[in-house]
Amino acid sequence: MIKEVKGMKDIVAPEANSWEELRGIASRIFSSFSYDLIITPILEKQELFSRSVGEDTDVVTKEMYTFIDRSGEKLALRPEGTASIMRAYFSNFDSRSKVLKAWYWGPMFRHEKPQKGRYRQFFQFGLEAVGTDSPYIDSELIYVLDSFYKHIGIKDFEIEINSIGCKNCRPKYKNELVTFLRNNKSKLCETCAKRIEKNPLRVLDCKNDVCQKVIINAPKIKNYICDNCSSHYRKVLFSLNDLNIEYKENPYLVRGLDYYVKTVFEFVSKDLDGRQNALGGGGRYDELSSSLGEKTNVPAVGYAGGIERMFLVLENKNLDTYKKIYIAFLDEETREKYVNFIIKLKNFFAFSDKKVQIIDEGYKVLNAKKHLSKADKLVCSYAIIAGKEELKKSELVLKDLYKRKEEKIKIDIKNLDKTFSKILGGIVFE
Ligand code: AMP
Repeated sequence: MIKEVKGMKDIVAPEANSWEELRGIASRIFSSFSYDLIITPILEKQELFSRSVGEDTDVVTKEMYTFIDRSGEKLALRPEGTASIMRAYFSNFDSRSKVLKAWYWGPMFRHEKPQKGRYRQFFQFGLEAVGTDSPYIDSELIYVLDSFYKHIGIKDFEIEINSIGCKNCRPKYKNELVTFLRNNKSKLCETCAKRIEKNPLRVLDCKNDVCQKVIINAPKIKNYICDNCSSHYRKVLFSLNDLNIEYKENPYLVRGLDYYVKTVFEFVSKDLDGRQNALGGGGRYDELSSSLGEKTNVPAVGYAGGIERMFLVLENKNLDTYKKIYIAFLDEETREKYVNFIIKLKNFFAFSDKKVQIIDEGYKVLNAKKHLSKADKLVCSYAIIAGKEELKKSELVLKDLYKRKEEKIKIDIKNLDKTFSKILGGIVFE
């Protein structure tokens, strides 16, 4: 059989059901904070990412999946979501003063070395607020993420935050940093030694131990930022304190993509491996629109979090909230007579306010022992069992597989909904 592409994987049930559940939780929480779902294409013009993420970043130089399509256009599979949101803002709204608060969820593509927590196709969810420079949107964003992660059961994380200034104040800092790095060039890893001239800030992002030893003595950007950036940063921190959000200032946090200014932050998990320990990261990108060719800058702030990393922390916890009922037919005649009843029961559940899934395994006929062992493996809470005896009395057995208790339910052919309701009533939803 043909194998999947390296670094890309199928997500199948029950994991896939947990993904759907998580997506539903995300949708509810983010919508309450007035972020609306946005769905942008997976393919974009290559230029969108090279001009926004940055020509010299790893994502653009080494990792982007690019190709020329049949009409000669240079395209890229999106490596991240923010640039697309900024493009979509201009594609969809005439008014440059509109505030777009959008959230997304979807696959991203980067040709990286696959390892635990790092894949070539991976999923991100993101929130972006475009058209506002309010520091309170920065703090609200951090607040909603904190609430989301805690709600789904991720508690052992730290929020790291920093301000990296803007195009007015960063050049002065960059000069200081370059001087410092040149003086320490021999102590840096090979990649960082090359980065000094082209992208010195990225050196601060290096997780290599040798570089970390140098970085702790590097000048701190916080001491160089202008009044405007400093006042913005102070307001964000003040607001976070007021919201009782715990955070840690990391003076060397810069993030890997070029478009960030002012506030940058990361959610770092203590349960993830050193190099892949970020659940996600974000920050302001007030100057992104001009690097995409707009005359004026539209201020914006956003965050992107990895879905696979969330599940690594949750240790593949099953978030699937469907009650699973296994259907066990014990002989062919009963199956013939009952199968359409079960199909209609599925439809009844589909439109009820309870989440119930009937596991049918292709309506196979087996003996009770084999059926129940399958139901066990498929983590079903209940089984509907029907054989010759039940058929004779026009009833079925609803068995609670945990409590090992069973109940006989009479089938009322003239009023199926009544029978369906009785079955639903026999299921305990905690
Ligand atoms: P970035 O867009 O690089 O800021 O990444 C944001 C988040 O997406 C990271 O913190 C990870 O949780 C996740 N992520 C980034 N790259 C990958 C990858 N190759 N595989 C899995 N998750 C990733």
